[in-house]
Amino acid sequence: MSASHVMKTYAPQPIAFARGEGAWLWDTEGRRYLDALAGIAVSGLGHGHPVLVKAIAGQAARLIHTSNLFRVAEQERLAERVCALAAMDNAFFCNSGAEANECAIKIARLHGHHRGIENPAIIVMEKAWHGRTLATLSATGSRKAQAGFEPLMGGFLRVPYNDLAAIERLESHGSVVAVLLEVLQGEGGIHVADAQYLRSLREICDRRGWLLMIDEVQSGIARTGKWFAHQWSGIVPDVMALAKGLGSGVPIGACLARGVAAQVFKPGNHGTTFGGGPLVSVAALTTLEVIEKDGILANAKRQGDLIRAGLAEALAGVAGVKEIRGMGLMIGVELDRPCGEIVARALEAGLVINVTADKVIRLLPPLIYSDAESKELVARLAPLVKALLAQPVAA
Ligand SMILES: *Cc1c(COP(=O)(O)O)cnc(C)c1O
Repeated sequence: MSASHVMKTYAPQPIAFARGEGAWLWDTEGRRYLDALAGIAVSGLGHGHPVLVKAIAGQAARLIHTSNLFRVAEQERLAERVCALAAMDNAFFCNSGAEANECAIKIARLHGHHRGIENPAIIVMEKAWHGRTLATLSATGSRKAQAGFEPLMGGFLRVPYNDLAAIERLESHGSVVAVLLEVLQGEGGIHVADAQYLRSLREICDRRGWLLMIDEVQSGIARTGKWFAHQWSGIVPDVMALAKGLGSGVPIGACLARGVAAQVFKPGNHGTTFGGGPLVSVAALTTLEVIEKDGILANAKRQGDLIRAGLAEALAGVAGVKEIRGMGLMIGVELDRPCGEIVARALEAGLVINVTADKVIRLLPPLIYSDAESKELVARLAPLVKALLAQPVAA
């Protein structure tokens, strides 16, 4: 293997996986790992799910791509299904989370112009993550990710997350057309918004005619134990971005809209060559079917509760563990110090995890975990956390 012709946008761990089955991965040397990352909240059904494999193979043999210049039956079925689950009216299919948010941003801007607002502004959050394209990078609340790519795009107003007063102060701002946020921030460090904050945000958006746009790219598709994380608070957004878990690893994103937001685009306003083709649409439809048939919503909640409770018990009283938080199988363990090195140590211990926001161990296991696998995750992770916290802090 040689990485010399791959652009250095990542600094990958020095291993590669050759195959997977359920919650387990095998590397090219034949070593076995418990997967607690699911390809960053993508492989919710685990690896090699037989129903998904069969559906993808069957569709690949029938038809892979025709373009959106023709109707795509599989896309229409997927749109109907995902809109029913989300109580939304229609969907635009794209190929990534960034693109799903790009679509949301374009809907908000066009909606603003339709209302006579010349320079429409979108309220976004500190520590937000919305993607790497120029518009979504500008909406993202990470200076580290933005540095060097200025000029960033204008039209975003940034406020602290989960802070209603900060939103209320912008209520009289005449150019605001939308609020874009994650219900629980993933890359930003697993920060959970209060249900009451989300409900108040919904009220303000209704009062002001702003679009409430929720980025569920990481938290959606059963990850938190409901189809979409915002459903825990009982609100319905006007626009919602999906990607990661939607296609179980086949690249698909979606931007869903409701009410006025669903009527903004006309032919010619937006598009993409690959979006919603037969192959990816079947992968997504099958993902949704399996989640429903196999009781995966309830399992995600159950395993999330087991893992958080297990970690709380195993790490009780350990100095340096600041908080264990999250919803369902989107879990963060915040330490009092940077802990990036624990990722490599976990691999040595046969465990795939991630660290985000420097100090937060992030767990995003496949949604098909068994009780035994949740216990195994705790058993492998807790000693690593203790060992890391026991060593002297580097000056
Ligand atoms: C990963 C992520 C994105 C970006 O998705 P890509 O597919 O990497 O473009 C956007 N929003 C959230 C909340 C994410 O977690």
